[in-house]
Amino acid sequence: MIIAIDGPAGAGKSTVAKGVAKRLGFGFLDTGAMYRAVTLGVIQRGHMPLDAEACCAVARESELAFDSSDRITINGLACEPDIRGETVTRNVSAVSAHPGVRDIVVARQRVLARERGDVVVEGRDTTTVVFPEADLKFFLIASPRERARRRAAQLDQIESVDDIQRDIERRDQLDTTRACAPLRQAEDATVIDTDGLGVEEVVNEIVRQVEGRVPRG
Ligand code: C5P
Repeated sequence: MIIAIDGPAGAGKSTVAKGVAKRLGFGFLDTGAMYRAVTLGVIQRGHMPLDAEACCAVARESELAFDSSDRITINGLACEPDIRGETVTRNVSAVSAHPGVRDIVVARQRVLARERGDVVVEGRDTTTVVFPEADLKFFLIASPRERARRRAAQLDQIESVDDIQRDIERRDQLDTTRACAPLRQAEDATVIDTDGLGVEEVVNEIVRQVEGRVPRG
């Protein structure tokens, strides 16, 4: 079974998806980590994030996988926490906007999900492009302010909530307006507004829907 959890930056997708996977004993796939890993490779090799050809070459040459703790590796090398740093965060929207990069990364996501069998996949476009046939789809939303507050609490470096909110709004703008696989809500996704809800409450709601689901066909 595939459960896809989609939504904008900072809506709580990652934490919620991990919680759902744990509760159900499912595998977990963090698709954003894969774009972040390609972006790290692009930066480390000194390429420009707007250089489509260079970004595609990095994506092609990067064997993306996850270790037993679901931490991403490139060609067998761990790349957490580097992929969460400011430089990667600032450039990942540009790198992930290249259609060639997306083709390579999406193909890999489908293979990794198949290998996991029952899986919770998390990331924008997972309900619309990567797994349109997912058994259950959820679209998490939250106000930009709430999303910035959550991100600030996660980050080690001291960045103001205002700065983070500006970055989130800039990424939303890029991610919703890009030509290839823009962030959008699938018609058959259940929308959950997470403002004012704790992680447990959102996890409970999704688990309740999974357990109460009438099998298709
Ligand atoms: O979820 P996370 O913040 O780690 O995602 C980082 C970036 O990767 C997003 O802002 C988006 O540009 C890109 N991304 C994407 N498609 C996905 C997941 C992430 O384009 N499925």
